[in-house]
Amino acid sequence: MLRLYDVHTQYGQVEALGGISLEVHEHSMVALLGANGAGKSTTLMTISGILKPSAGYIEYNNVDIGKLDAREIVELGIIQCPEGRRVFGNLTVKENLRMGAVSCKDKHRLKETFDYVFTIFPILKERISQTASTLSGGEQQMLAIGRALMAKPRVLLLDEPSLGLAPIIVDTIFEVIQRLNQEGVTILLVEQNAHRALEMAHYAYVLEKGRIVMEGPGIELRANPEVEHIYLSEVPEAEK
Ligand code: ATP
Repeated sequence: MLRLYDVHTQYGQVEALGGISLEVHEHSMVALLGANGAGKSTTLMTISGILKPSAGYIEYNNVDIGKLDAREIVELGIIQCPEGRRVFGNLTVKENLRMGAVSCKDKHRLKETFDYVFTIFPILKERISQTASTLSGGEQQMLAIGRALMAKPRVLLLDEPSLGLAPIIVDTIFEVIQRLNQEGVTILLVEQNAHRALEMAHYAYVLEKGRIVMEGPGIELRANPEVEHIYLSEVPEAEK
């Protein structure tokens, strides 16, 4: 469904991705792991068109999307939920969600989409008139994912959805991600909680300094001693 072939991305003279090749099959969940600065967010932003690859090829359903702008890529159904939530703090929950479906003018469809998001995150319905800045961190993350869902994603690019959240909220977020995937949304997940990500992901890639250094089914990488040593050793026993 989505394929990157030898993708390079630069920030000015600095090369952040040095030739990434990866595949995300339709309806699958793929995890992207790696230390801080490895290039995970850059990979997502290159797919979503926020950054342009300096070389290489990005293909979505056999179409070269590497040269499309971010808006065209959204219209194809590739939606990014950015790291750090980036909700609009002074807008209400409803207004934030509406931003996710900004091009939808059909009132009936819009209501259906709102209702769908409220079945996924009932708390957002309770908070509908509150400004986003008054929400808890977990609720803001739900709002950020909810806003992405308003755009009806076929591929959801999730950047560190569990970052900084309390364990009980992390559980809710991961349950939702799994549910969305089971309902047919293809997911590319960047996650610092490698343990949980590998548990859920069908396939995973490990990035190091802008290059893929390891890949395999989630379950296999989870059992790999090298991955265990680098990424899984700090997870408390209780979470294993
Ligand atoms: P993190 O988990 O810390 O966000 P990451 O794996 O997502 O890490 P990226 O944010 O993609 O990593 O960064 C990849 C590389 O690109 C790093 O070396 C980073 O310093 C560099 N970089 C990121 N954003 C910029 C920028 N706006 N300008 C210059 N260099 C950048």
